[in-house]
Amino acid sequence: MSWNQMAAVMALAAAPLTIQSAPEHHAPKAPKSLRLYVFDCGVLRPKDASAFGFKQGEVAVLNMAVPCFLIAHPKGTLMWDVGVIPDSDFKPDGSPVTEGMSTVTKPLEPQLAAIGYEPQDIKYIAFSHYHIDHTANANMFARSTWLVPQAERDIMFSDKPAAVRTPKNYMALKDSKTIILPASSDYDVFGDGTVIIKPAPGHTPGHQVLFLKLAKTGAVLIAGDLYHYQEERHTDHTPTFEYNKEQSLASRAAIENFLKKSGAQLWIEHDYAANAKLKKSPAYYD
Ligand SMILES: [Zn+2]
Repeated sequence: MSWNQMAAVMALAAAPLTIQSAPEHHAPKAPKSLRLYVFDCGVLRPKDASAFGFKQGEVAVLNMAVPCFLIAHPKGTLMWDVGVIPDSDFKPDGSPVTEGMSTVTKPLEPQLAAIGYEPQDIKYIAFSHYHIDHTANANMFARSTWLVPQAERDIMFSDKPAAVRTPKNYMALKDSKTIILPASSDYDVFGDGTVIIKPAPGHTPGHQVLFLKLAKTGAVLIAGDLYHYQEERHTDHTPTFEYNKEQSLASRAAIENFLKKSGAQLWIEHDYAANAKLKKSPAYYD
């Protein structure tokens, strides 16, 4: 057999493999108007609320929800907060994972896949703040463009110790395409006023909240950890591990003022009872 003949035989033998290879992935078509998907990224079960400045019995529901959000805009997508336990900690059998007070029943990537998205389809990634319960799957989105204030990025990669920090979960972002957000003014993600990141520092140096203008639902403010419990609202209770309590109280006052002006609904991300009533993906808010 000549070399050419042998090559032809080998090509034939390899042909069935080509047919069996995975079909090419196409990102879902961009929606005509803004959509908000809510994913179940777990639950926190603290024994009491003392870390948030409350005595026994002062908080009705101690459990905290951990949601992840996908914003699908006609011009692109934004992931906002990405869970408390990375998908990579799940065992092959997919059973729920508990680490400390956190339990996650569903990994994030399959929840995205269920509505047609792969991590590589996500244009922007942003976190309310760097704490472990908001950044667990950050490495998954290293190909996205990261929207972060300088002060937050600095503490994330600082050599000095910082509260509730798990750098291994977001290390891959160090080399990601990054847009540094202004420290004290709003950032309009898609340039049409429907998706706005607002600075709300204090909980961490660059803590921020997300304002969305949805056509049917109306305006929504996804508040990160500006509050953890409804009971914190209109009090001066802040977590014991707050980066800057005075700054947090000032941020809360500014955001409360903004809520009045804009008429936006306040979504406290960790509010367990409120989260239970939210539509979860594949359903969405528009
Ligand atoms: Zn949190």
